Amino acid sequence: MNNPILALTFEPALESLGSAFYSRVVAAEFPQHWLRFRNDAVLAQLGLAANRVTDHHLIEALGQFQGRDTLLALCYHGYQFGIYNPRLGDGRGFLYGQVRGVDGELYDLGTKGSGSTPYSRGADGRLTLKGGVREVLASEALHHLGVCTSRCLSLIETGERLWRGDEPSPTRSSVMVRVSRSHIRFGTFERLCFLQRPDLIQVLLDHVIEIYYPGLLAVEDATERYGLFYAELVRRTAVLVGQWMSVGFCHAVLNTDNMSITGESFDYGPYAFMPTYDPQFTAAYFDEMGRYRFGNQPGICRWNLEMLQRPLAMLILEADMQASLAEFDAIYAQAYVQRMLQKLGLDPLLTPETGKLVQQTLAMLEKTQMGYHDFFAELRQQFSPLWQVDVGHILSESLFLAQSGGVPALESWRQLYYHHLQGLRESDLQVVAERLRQHNPLTVLLRSEIEAVWEPIATEDDWQPFYELLKRLQNP
Ligand code: AMP
Ligand code: MG
Repeated sequence: MNNPILALTFEPALESLGSAFYSRVVAAEFPQHWLRFRNDAVLAQLGLAANRVTDHHLIEALGQFQGRDTLLALCYHGYQFGIYNPRLGDGRGFLYGQVRGVDGELYDLGTKGSGSTPYSRGADGRLTLKGGVREVLASEALHHLGVCTSRCLSLIETGERLWRGDEPSPTRSSVMVRVSRSHIRFGTFERLCFLQRPDLIQVLLDHVIEIYYPGLLAVEDATERYGLFYAELVRRTAVLVGQWMSVGFCHAVLNTDNMSITGESFDYGPYAFMPTYDPQFTAAYFDEMGRYRFGNQPGICRWNLEMLQRPLAMLILEADMQASLAEFDAIYAQAYVQRMLQKLGLDPLLTPETGKLVQQTLAMLEKTQMGYHDFFAELRQQFSPLWQVDVGHILSESLFLAQSGGVPALESWRQLYYHHLQGLRESDLQVVAERLRQHNPLTVLLRSEIEAVWEPIATEDDWQPFYELLKRLQNP
């Protein structure tokens, strides 16, 4: 076999759990295969040298699915917009295989748009090309902003015409392969609770701990081990939400089937990066109540963790889980504030004073409605040691300041920031400049950016702007 992807050592970790967890499926056959995106960094992470993997190899493996005969559509349920749905599962994807990365960890290669399955509920099992482009962009942007996320390995256009209510139709089709820590979701456990299978919940939890929480294997007492798992999942999820919130990311569909049991971010549909600071910002047009609005993300993830207690209650004391969940807000706040302080160029150590600075910054951004990312990009670009000498220098070149002619909220923020700089030594200022550079991207994946690269693809099949945007997102 000379295709290095097919020659990978696939491990049947999930398959070995038994057929109660999945259905075997066959992949759709597509009329065309045009490779639109390949992720050489992720290939390297899987131990594949990019120069040994041709585009043709990628198409054979990840567009035609040759050489693999166990493709598994995974079973799960989930709370969608707060309502339990027992009719879910991989409806347009399957687990292509599991492989070890060069870091020794096990990774899932999962598809999106690879054909219908027993869980398609009458839908076509396909992914629109625009949907694929959007997920590639989101996962690359988030990864390079330091958010724990799945990544796309490949995006192949497949030459079909699809009909969708939310895209001009017919629209183009694609199939994507996503590499994630795991495709096991909160909803995978919820389904087993619904089916009243505590035996399978234990099998699945043992599996999750063995592979994704191996540090807990040393804990001999099973009940204690399971409880520590839940506490660690609470921690990972709270930290993840802190990452989203600091970069201004609104996931848009935080149903429990889109929550990973490893605490990783994945599945990017109608997401958006928020243009100005607005806790009410809602990304999905069908989210009429704003359930998944930007400012609701911490509360919703905590609620999702609370729902997960029901299946786990068969193995873990509920009081222990409640105690762990009670830590969520504090862990989230700490993770979020630390990242916000870094975006302000400051030491991430939280004190009453720095906490107040973050609060005031957010209040100012909400009141002025200046661009959230523009503000931090201007801090990064305009910062100078002179800011410590004279408050008049702070953001003096700001476009927003020039246009608004001065707004009281921004004026008092400048005073406050000036005051904080007074506490720093001259040598600290270089560190401030470096932090501002590291934590504030110059390119942000706003909707306008996505539409600007989609337009030439849709009208002229010109992919150059997409590749250029990717390059900028990969070097924030
Ligand atoms: P999502 O909103 O992408 O997380 O999907 C929610 C559920 O709908 C999952 O079970 C998906 O597999 C399924 N689904 C979404 N779109 C399609 C489609 N075009 N064909 C079949 N199933 C789909
Ligand atoms: Mg999903």
